[in-house]
Amino acid sequence: MINEYFGVSLRGSNTFGIEATADRLVEFGSADDLKSLEGVFDGRWNVLGGGSNIIFTSDYHGTLLRCTGREMQVSEDGRVRVEAGMVWDDFVAWTVANGLWGAENLSNIPGTVGAAPVQNIGAYGVEAKDIIESVEIYDPARGEVRIMGAEECEFGYRDSIFKHTLRGVITAVMFRLSQTPQPRLDYGDLRATAGEPTLENIRRAVIEIRGSKLPDPEVQGNAGSFFKNPVVSSTVAEKLREKYPEMPLYDAPEGSKKLAAGWLIDRAGWKGRSLGRVGVHPKQALVLVNLGGATGAEVIELARRIQADVRGQFGVEINTEVNIW
Ligand code: FAD
Ligand code: NAP
Repeated sequence: MINEYFGVSLRGSNTFGIEATADRLVEFGSADDLKSLEGVFDGRWNVLGGGSNIIFTSDYHGTLLRCTGREMQVSEDGRVRVEAGMVWDDFVAWTVANGLWGAENLSNIPGTVGAAPVQNIGAYGVEAKDIIESVEIYDPARGEVRIMGAEECEFGYRDSIFKHTLRGVITAVMFRLSQTPQPRLDYGDLRATAGEPTLENIRRAVIEIRGSKLPDPEVQGNAGSFFKNPVVSSTVAEKLREKYPEMPLYDAPEGSKKLAAGWLIDRAGWKGRSLGRVGVHPKQALVLVNLGGATGAEVIELARRIQADVRGQFGVEINTEVNIW
C-alpha cells in the first residue's frame, strides 16, 4: 500500500530532532509498490528508516521513501525473513523470546531492519553481517528486486556495498539464527554484567550497559556515534602508542589497528564541551547531542572543529559515521 505526503516536517523522523522539511514522503509496503511508483527514481530520492543515523543540514528537496512492511516469515531451520520496516529492536526481542541466538548483543540499537545491512550495524563484538544470509533490494537502475547473498554485500566495519556502488531500497533481510547457544561475551563488562549466559540475561545486560552510558534520543536528541573509529596501519599505531602509552588499540583486519575515536576526542579536550546548541556527551565523546533547537549546520560546525583538533593533535582523520543530508 502506498501513502504519499507533501511538505512533511522531519523533526519527529530523525533522532537528533533537527527541524527540516521533505518535499515528498512516500510510504510503501512492498517491492511491487516501488515498481509502480512513477517519476520518483528519475529525481532526487533517498530511503528514510528510523532517522537514527541521519543529520539533515537543509530541507530535503526530493522524495523520501519509507517502508511500512513489518512482516516476518520463519523457517524451521532458523532462517527468518523480516521486512525492512520492522523496528530492529522488536526483531531482536523476538529472537530472544523464541530461543534463537545471534542478535542478542545487538539489543537496543535504534532504527529499522532495512537499515541494519547498510552500515552493517555492530555492538559488543557482533555485527549484523554475522547473522545476515541475504538482503532483498529493489534496484531502480534495473527496475527489479535483487537478492544479494551476504558475500556479495561487501560488509566491512560499519560499511557495505549499499553505502557505495549499489544504491537501492532494501525491502527485506533474511537472517540465519541458531538454536544452539552461542554466547559472545568477550567485550568489556558484558560477561560480568550478564551472569549466567542465557539469551535473556545477555539482552538485559546489553540494555543495562547501554543505558548507563548512552543518551536516550527520546530524552536528548542524538544520532549515536557520530564518528567511526579510525583504522590505521600498525606503524602509525606504534608511533602513537609510544607517545600515548595509555591509548586503547584494537586489532583490525590485515594487521591494521583500530583506535577509539571517543578516546581521541576526549584527549583533544572535547568531552562534555559544547558549541552553541550542540554538545559532546560527557560520558561518551563519540556522541554529539542536541542541547535544544540545534540546526544541522551547527552540528556540522562542531564536528569539523572536533575533526580538526584530532587531526592537529594526533595526525589521525576521524570520519563521520552519521549520514549527512
Ligand atoms: P536511518 O537513520 O533512517 O538511515 C540510515 C541510512 O540507511 C541512510 O543512508 C538511509 O538512506 C539508509 N537506509 C535506511 N533504510 C533503508 C532501506 N530500507 N533501504 C536502503 N537504505 C536504507 N549503530 C550501530 O551500528 N551500533 C550501535 O550500537 C548503534 N547505537 C546507536 C545508539 C543510538 C542512541 C543511536 C541514536 C544510534 C545508534 N546507532 C548504532 C546508529 C543507528 O541506530 C543505526 O545506523 C541504524 O541501523 C539506523 O537505522 P535507521 O532505520 O534509523 O536508519
Ligand atoms: P566502549 O565499550 O566504551 O568502547 C569504546 C570503543 O572501543 C568502541 O568504539 C569499541 O569499538 C572499542 N572497543 C571496546 N572494547 C573492544 C573490544 N574488546 N574489541 C574491539 N573493540 C573494542 O563503547 P560504547 O560507546 O559503550 O559502545 C559499546 C558498543 O556499542 C560498541 O560496540 C559500539 O560500537 C556500540 N555503539 C555504537 C553506536 C553507533 O552509533 N554506532 C552507538 C552506541 C554504541 P567498536 O565500536 O568497534 O565496537
